[in-house]
Amino acid sequence: MTTKYLFFTGGVVSSVGKGVTAAALGLLLKERGFKVAVQKLDPYINVDPGTMSPYQHGEVYVLDDGAETDLDLGHYERFIDNRLTRVSNFTTGQVYAETIAKERRGDYLGGTIQVIPHITNEIKRRIGLVSKETGAEIVILEVGGTVGDIESQPFLEALRQLRNEVGRENCLFVHVTWLPTIGATGEIKTKPTQHSVAALRSIGISPNIIIARADQDVEKSLCEKIALFCDVERDSVIPMKTADVLYEVPLLLEKMGVGDLVLRKLNLKAERQPNMQPWEKLVADVRKPKPSVKVALVGKYVELQDAYMSVREALKHAALANDVEVEIGWVHSADLEKEKGWDVVKQADAVLVPGGFGSRGIEGKILAARYARENKIPYLGLCLGMQVMCVDFARNVLDLEEANSSEFDRGTKHPVIDLMIDQRSITDMGGTMRLGLYPCMIQPNTKTARAYAVSNIEERHRHRFEFNNAYRAEFEKHGMVFSGVSPDGRLVEIVELADHPYMVASQFHPEFLSRPMKPHPLFVGLIKAAKERAEK
Ligand code: GLN
Repeated sequence: MTTKYLFFTGGVVSSVGKGVTAAALGLLLKERGFKVAVQKLDPYINVDPGTMSPYQHGEVYVLDDGAETDLDLGHYERFIDNRLTRVSNFTTGQVYAETIAKERRGDYLGGTIQVIPHITNEIKRRIGLVSKETGAEIVILEVGGTVGDIESQPFLEALRQLRNEVGRENCLFVHVTWLPTIGATGEIKTKPTQHSVAALRSIGISPNIIIARADQDVEKSLCEKIALFCDVERDSVIPMKTADVLYEVPLLLEKMGVGDLVLRKLNLKAERQPNMQPWEKLVADVRKPKPSVKVALVGKYVELQDAYMSVREALKHAALANDVEVEIGWVHSADLEKEKGWDVVKQADAVLVPGGFGSRGIEGKILAARYARENKIPYLGLCLGMQVMCVDFARNVLDLEEANSSEFDRGTKHPVIDLMIDQRSITDMGGTMRLGLYPCMIQPNTKTARAYAVSNIEERHRHRFEFNNAYRAEFEKHGMVFSGVSPDGRLVEIVELADHPYMVASQFHPEFLSRPMKPHPLFVGLIKAAKERAEK
């Protein structure tokens, strides 16, 4: 079968929910029996988001093969429940780096290297890799940013060319826009959408489907107006009011017939009817009134919750599995150092310290781990959250004064967390951490083993520092259990406290493998312990 392409562009504003919409549509197509692949094209010049501040970019989502990618890939994996690879995300930075490397090698000998055709060719080559690698029948491709941005122009030009190369009948352009409301009159405006479609058409692309996002119900007459002004068929303007439950988006799209619309426009026949029942049940369960548990999330990017996107979703999945609601209390770890924010920690049924880099707020995280340990509050540490749990244990149980991670105190007398040997000679920052899937063996008769109920696992990593084995025996003597280690026994992957209801932490990032219908065992364990505590 020829590969079919669904190109998603965004209009009016960024963060309009393009990624979620694309992911939800991917699910509807997968449910109809198609092999679906996804790809996100990011217009920024960084080679990947790995070197960007979470404040700038939100979470860095890590794949099995260690690719550091855009957080939209998390939506794709959670909705479509597939495992993506490196080809699923590329940036302008990668496109230029590759093209310039070729030029230096002399591949273009004599030629002048230009955006068209050299950059656009490299973009098309990378798009082609997806169907080659996955054998997908339908490729969903999302262009990051907003139409009209200088940066995204080469991407859109490449798509325009690709449309002619693979045939118009094999491509659909889906434009996701935003309809603002004027506060004083409550009137919904379509003009920005018209302008964004005009911008798209000026590059030679006419959208086939417009998804009109809004915070309110969008009347049919408004959709007709958009269809008229934007030269789109009437049934192809889809109003999409902001959903209060994220996982309802596929159901809303299905109800509006978008799955069938796409197939009709691509001239495809579904192999089977979609079974959306599990998703309906999921959404109904989310809506059902339930008792709630409070989790204090102690991090340093808490002003921007996107920085903890997968952690937040994983908590929701685990709460659902435990038949409770999760209320997340966002705590700035630096506040804890200044005696602020403790009320949230003290009222919490569980404490979670997520991953992070750099020394700002680190003492606050160590204090949070200490508080959870001393007060027997369920605790889950993710990567840095495991490291601070070990630092607290060293300082306050083993009495190793000034114990630290050498990330924060290079000259510490007790580097209980230290740079991994294979990281010592590395000088480049980008893409050089221990990244991606690594195996881990679980020690029987531990809380970790009870949570996982299997003995061999593989989880996604993103770190440079590790537990220092010189301290293992001493830690064990005092009640720290190394409940997960690498198969060669060399790397500590999971720790837990013996004398505590649930103080578990991992060097990897379990949040990346949590799915709405397959909640992650370590998160389920945390919420279960939190629920037991709340009930007491
Ligand atoms: N900064 C720590 C390290 O590099 C933890 C990384 C993380 O939490 N992802 O090991």
